[in-house]
Amino acid sequence: AGKIQMEVPLVEMDGDEMARVIWRQVKEILLTPYVDLKTLYFDLGLKKRDETDDRITVEAAEATKKYGVAVKCATITPNAQRVKEYDLKQMWKSPNGTIRAILDGTVFRTPIIVKNIKPFVKTWERPITIARHAYGDIYKGVEMKIAAKGKAELVFTCEDGRVSREVIHDFAGPGMVMAMHNLDKSVESFARACFNYALDQKQDLWFATKDTISKKYDHNFKDIFQDLYTREYQEKFSAAGIEYFYTLIDDAVARVIRSPGGFIWACKNYDGDVMSDMVATAFGSLAMMTSVLVSPDGYYEFEAAHGTVTRHYYQYLKGEETSTNPVATLFAWTGALRKRGELDGAGSLVQFAGELEQAAMDTIEEGSMTKDLAILAEGEKRIVNTREFLEEVNACLGRGSRRQA
Ligand code: NAD
Repeated sequence: AGKIQMEVPLVEMDGDEMARVIWRQVKEILLTPYVDLKTLYFDLGLKKRDETDDRITVEAAEATKKYGVAVKCATITPNAQRVKEYDLKQMWKSPNGTIRAILDGTVFRTPIIVKNIKPFVKTWERPITIARHAYGDIYKGVEMKIAAKGKAELVFTCEDGRVSREVIHDFAGPGMVMAMHNLDKSVESFARACFNYALDQKQDLWFATKDTISKKYDHNFKDIFQDLYTREYQEKFSAAGIEYFYTLIDDAVARVIRSPGGFIWACKNYDGDVMSDMVATAFGSLAMMTSVLVSPDGYYEFEAAHGTVTRHYYQYLKGEETSTNPVATLFAWTGALRKRGELDGAGSLVQFAGELEQAAMDTIEEGSMTKDLAILAEGEKRIVNTREFLEEVNACLGRGSRRQA
């Protein structure tokens, strides 16, 4: 039989260091032998970003708006040391930040679960997906250290000249204050992305804030979610047999720990920052975590949740074999191919994505894994390097996955 055909190309965003090496190997060993891979290629490697004054990143994001589905390799976000190392014209901004600003998306992160790596939380059987609001709150906070006795106030001057004031605190001595903000529009677009994703995944959606204490700020988040749900999603959720569930953040944390998993947890910006690290660690590792940016207009960008694995890259440059885990990168590709297949009605592409994911999980469950997983896994294990791992996945794919059988 011939290769699986694609109608519409994926937007392919290449990246840096070890992630870039893995990227090429995944394509060579597991994708191009089976799929007549059509991609629009954008090199987001740091060198190319510098050469193009970072226009390449904007072009890649614009192409994602045009074609709908992108797959992105991990990239370096430059700091002072990278500016020197790569002799950069300037300290370019994070490509993920640039892309997110253009697509206005929400990031959903889901652990990849295998039987021989047990979550630290005994009750967790199915993945918990974290959706993190990516705008505002303390990340756009304005802060002041208070040096001495005095009064701090919150002042809002309306366009029409009216002024509202609120005393924050009458300071008797030194302390600190902070003001933060958010926008109804941003919260609503976050809520919409979460409701759509829940329908897409056919999973319940949880959302939590501290609205009992924060009667205006957090309460507004709660109201915006509820209003949108009642207005546009309630019927769709009933039809899909899923639920929207709101509770207090402390109650949510307690329930999450006792739950079997299998739902989406929408988090405010800071909660998402903290909880996604907790959930990733408790399920195993960042190298076993998928990540997808979903825009309210229905564009998707799939990536791995980890970075460029710099330490391994320096070993690789010395000619040493590395045991870098390619699973998250592989799942970025399968996620993108599945979505492309769903959008284009290409069943064989959807099926291939599922088989490839199953083959990767089976390979680990049969005991072959990269070094990072060996410390976490139970039972028999053989540590393999990246290429060997991908070749074993390929052999497993050839035998046909257990799910098919
Ligand atoms: P990292 O994810 O590359 O590494 C963090 C730690 O996890 C390291 O100890 C690493 O060895 C380990 N690790 C991560 N992925 C692994 C894998 N697949 N297999 C085995 N071990 C793995 O993050 P970092 O070290 O903080 O950053 C390195 C570079 O990556 C930086 O330049 C940063 O800007 C970039 N970065 C990019 C993204 C992205 O593009 N999405 C995300 C985070 C960091």
